[in-house]
Amino acid sequence: MSQGYVQEIFSSFQGEGAAVEGSCYGLRQIFIRFSGCPLALGVHGTKGCIWCDSPKSWSTTPSKCLVETQAGTQSFEEISNPLTPEEILDFVKKLSTKDLHSVSLTGGEPLYQESFFEDITSLLKEAGYKTYLETAYTDNFVFLEKLSEKIDFACVDIKDKTANAALEWENLVNQEVEMSRILKNAGTKVFAKTVITKASKKENFEIIAKKCGSIDLPIVIQFVTPIVNSKVEQPTWEQVNDFSQIAGKFLSPEKIGISIQMHKAVEIL
Ligand code: SF4
Repeated sequence: MSQGYVQEIFSSFQGEGAAVEGSCYGLRQIFIRFSGCPLALGVHGTKGCIWCDSPKSWSTTPSKCLVETQAGTQSFEEISNPLTPEEILDFVKKLSTKDLHSVSLTGGEPLYQESFFEDITSLLKEAGYKTYLETAYTDNFVFLEKLSEKIDFACVDIKDKTANAALEWENLVNQEVEMSRILKNAGTKVFAKTVITKASKKENFEIIAKKCGSIDLPIVIQFVTPIVNSKVEQPTWEQVNDFSQIAGKFLSPEKIGISIQMHKAVEIL
């Protein structure tokens, strides 16, 4: 079996998404935050998203992983990396509660450590857990297709141009839409999330919405969470109003929603 690097493991509630199919918004999850992010490592020519809320996870080989000692305590113990998939499963079992909906595989970019990710999802499925993938990037579509049957729910982060995640922005969007199509075709309940800022442009969002519409992919428009000492500002109401109506040109109303990072608003993990 493989070994890999994880930043943290804890129990909380899914704070992103809306009332669209594929979203697990507000449901109890155990979060496994994988290390490493190809976009931050420059695969698309930039150093990741300017509003990234988990830059610690960019580190590919952190020596320590923080594991919550008991669900809901928000107290952590430090475990040495790398970890085996069996060790991860043991932590998930320890943090499981009666109200647990699914296990969130997040990052960083969970698909970055391919065989480690595949082994963990296999073990989780064998143990009867539902899986929720939060992803922004892989260019290994064969791998994605192979493991998609092990993913019950997925949020594909389709980057707005203002994220600065790619020099050739539309190429990245095309890759992310293709990832969504592969997951959807395999039966995963998948939706797109696009984080927007005050600098986001209607014409760019229309490009995203049209591509989502072409594969009937639900889309959630998410307000950026302001970052201290950063110039990133939240979108205005007028923008959100416009963007939702633009999405309405390509998708039916139940496939369009708005979101904030609820967990940040109420200050939980
Ligand atoms: S893809 Fe995710 S982890 Fe990577 S830089 Fe962007 S927000 Fe951060």
